[in-house]
Amino acid sequence: MQNLMIDGDRLWQTIMETAAFGATTDGGVRRLTLGREDKQVRDWFRDQCEALGCTVDVDTVGNMFARRAGRDADALPIAIGSHLDTQPTGGKFDGILGVLAGLEVFRTLNAAGYETERPLMLVNWTNEEGARFAPAMLGSGVHAGVFDQPFADSRVDVDGITFAQAIDAIGYRGATPAGKTGFAAMFELHIEQGPVLERENAEIGIVTGVQAMRWYDLTICGREAHAGSTPMDMRCDALADAASIILAAQAAARSVGGMATTGQMSISSASRNVIPGHVTLSLDLRHQSDDGLDRLEAEVSELTEKQCGDRAQLQAIWNSPAVYFDPQCIETVRAAAAKSGAATREIVSGAGHDSVYVSRVAPTSMIFIPCKDGLSHNPAEAATKEQCSIGAQVLLDSVLAYSSLSYHRLTI
Ligand SMILES: [Zn+2]
Repeated sequence: MQNLMIDGDRLWQTIMETAAFGATTDGGVRRLTLGREDKQVRDWFRDQCEALGCTVDVDTVGNMFARRAGRDADALPIAIGSHLDTQPTGGKFDGILGVLAGLEVFRTLNAAGYETERPLMLVNWTNEEGARFAPAMLGSGVHAGVFDQPFADSRVDVDGITFAQAIDAIGYRGATPAGKTGFAAMFELHIEQGPVLERENAEIGIVTGVQAMRWYDLTICGREAHAGSTPMDMRCDALADAASIILAAQAAARSVGGMATTGQMSISSASRNVIPGHVTLSLDLRHQSDDGLDRLEAEVSELTEKQCGDRAQLQAIWNSPAVYFDPQCIETVRAAAAKSGAATREIVSGAGHDSVYVSRVAPTSMIFIPCKDGLSHNPAEAATKEQCSIGAQVLLDSVLAYSSLSYHRLTI
């Protein structure tokens, strides 16, 4: 195999060019799914791919598939995919880096006149963020059969506009039924969105999977009473109970190597001089393994019972099992990273990605690069030209190696 090198300057210029679609005055990007800026970047993406000789197909939920021909037109393609949409306070890298690095892979191959055995396919998954239309990872979810078309079409944004209306308004409902576009494997390059790689001076994260996540609503009933005339030992304070449970859940998470977060809490009829009588809070528990999350859940359930007895109710509202990426894809990334000479670290993703759902229907793995201070979903989200460049090189080498190996293995 030739030693093909991606062009880091060209990739960087492209990242800066696309950051103009939905640019905000604070240096961030606001490119909500199926809005005006999303249409602009989609049109741009289609033009760039067609200029490279790719055919661009769109499915019924707006997922875009740019196909670069291979030697064997009948072989299933190797996909490179991520997303072009952002959070309302998004940055220049989350999602789009994985698509633009794929574009840079195509540009590099074209410049070298390189023909892969299998075709390659660059994918823009619709609505990964879930910011305008919940839930997140909607396009890849429909592709993988997790959601169906009517479910996607019926999602509604805060202005009452449905997903169906929005996709038709920008002309991005294609004719290909969602889920009918096949590929042999997918690789996704993404910023880590956490501080681990940066802290450990690792340039490449070899992503082995995505941690298990569960969401709960916790309701605690106490008794409203006067803040001045009720002695401390005669209170039933729902907020004090909540505080104890939050801290105990965090301690339990630390002891089992998981995570516990409360991001929402409300006191019913809150008043400065009334002991809180009714509190609801969210609880987000995560662990790298389903077993670990079972243990954490059992501990939190027990400590809630101990603190409040039947005054508290812990209700599970969402469960996302741990994802284990394909061993062969992981091994391919590991070898490509070693070839690049980059400092590497194996890592389990803390965030959800399109690869979570795609991994249900095709061998999949991810490549992470560090981002500054671990920040994302923030205008200050940043990665350097060099970091992006190393990531794109590992992506290129992974795709070429997997295309060749999987093709010959399957046709022997
Ligand atoms: Zn993303």
